[in-house]
Amino acid sequence: MTLKLSDKSFIDFLRSNPAFSHINIDKELFKIDEWLKRHPGRHKTRRFVLHWLDRIEIPLQSGVSKLTEKRAPILTRCFICSVQVENEEYPYHLRNCQEEFDKKRNS
Ligand SMILES: [Zn+2]
Repeated sequence: MTLKLSDKSFIDFLRSNPAFSHINIDKELFKIDEWLKRHPGRHKTRRFVLHWLDRIEIPLQSGVSKLTEKRAPILTRCFICSVQVENEEYPYHLRNCQEEFDKKRNS
């Protein structure tokens, strides 16, 4: 993080930073301005802005739904029947598959 960025590229950096993707940057910059009006001794440095944004926690609700939306099922190929099953289902599938396989072998 270089401090030589111009104001515009600094704002662009904030907007494009995945760490701040849950934050409405424009809204926060506005809030910072409002806060600074009430605290005349403080200055809007980049360090100050970054510190401000760092304190904003990911809202639990939207954070969770984002994760669920983004999560694609991880598939595992069954080594017995070669069918692709979701990773979470695989232990159950494998157990059934193994039983089927044993039945066939024993019959
Ligand atoms: Zn299988």
